Amino acid sequence: MEKIYDVVIIGSGPAGLSAAVYGRRAMLDVAVIEKAGYSGGQIVNTSDVDNYLGLRGIGGFDMAMKFREHAEHFGAKFIDGTVTAIEKVNIHEGEIFNVIVKDGQCVKGKTVILAMGAEHSKLDIPGENEYAGRGVSYCATCDGTFYRGRKVAVIGGGDVALEDAVYLSKMAEKVYIIHRRDTFRGAKSLQEKVLAADNIEFIKDSVVTGILGDDMVKHIDVMNIKDEAHVELDVDGVFIAIGMKPGTEFVKDMVDTDGSGYILASEEGLTSMPGIFVAGDARTKKLRQVITAVSDGANCITSVEEYLNSKSV
Ligand code: NAP
Repeated sequence: MEKIYDVVIIGSGPAGLSAAVYGRRAMLDVAVIEKAGYSGGQIVNTSDVDNYLGLRGIGGFDMAMKFREHAEHFGAKFIDGTVTAIEKVNIHEGEIFNVIVKDGQCVKGKTVILAMGAEHSKLDIPGENEYAGRGVSYCATCDGTFYRGRKVAVIGGGDVALEDAVYLSKMAEKVYIIHRRDTFRGAKSLQEKVLAADNIEFIKDSVVTGILGDDMVKHIDVMNIKDEAHVELDVDGVFIAIGMKPGTEFVKDMVDTDGSGYILASEEGLTSMPGIFVAGDARTKKLRQVITAVSDGANCITSVEEYLNSKSV
């Protein structure tokens, strides 16, 4: 008979891996489906994580490896694949979920934890797709090294944009940070670092309307939104850091979501569908951080146990 896991966790970022550790420690049969081919989710693209309790200054990649080792140590089963659908089915033991993976594989679970996180938003401007990987990047820590001694622009005003600008300023000759407002959304401590760097220039109240070049990016067209004046800036790289959108498309008809696609959930991770839980950046919440994702994963396992116990009486 095909294996039925107690819980199938979709996603192997901090939320999914925390759920895997808590699940295994609760003696549950746990499968983690990961699509990227590596664990950690967004943290692998973060240079240093400075605010996770007890691990000050740890590199994002190292943190991801530690989380993965922890889940493996307790015996979570990892499966590679992109989930395309979840089906609720009735078998003689009761309701279970078929988690369908792109290659046709079907992973069966009594419960499912959605921990798919979120992905980079796009500007949707001319040149963005054309120059992806040829000057346009969504990950400063992955691609920054290619811009040593060159000029780059960072778009956005949140924590990621500020972090990227600071990171890039250590290798690039010049960094423009272009933001649609005159104040940053990101943390004050990061703002101070941005403003203190000699080679970072803040271009406020402005948006990028086009990315231009030949084989590679050469210029961007920047428009001031107050007077609509355009300037062309010579840059070799454009780092887009305008936030994230949740990877919830394949479950939008199964669980309730808010207007932006984030899955509506209680603090315990309960969704509108009994047996399906959600943890991390894919859910509605105020603070999307590693520490809150990890906490969501743990909370979900308590809810999974309660659900499974309620089915077995
Ligand atoms: P974010 O906080 O949502 O910031 C997105 C930024 O992009 C905002 O400044 C926004 O402008 C701008 N933006 C959005 N759409 C735009 C568009 N179409 N054109 C131009 N600009 C646009 O996203 P994030 O920086 O990716 O951070 C995501 C989450 O991770 C946040 O909760 C953040 O606090 C957290 N994070 C924390 C740390 C840390 O604590 N070390 C590090 C990284 C990320 P407006 O400001 O005008 O809305």
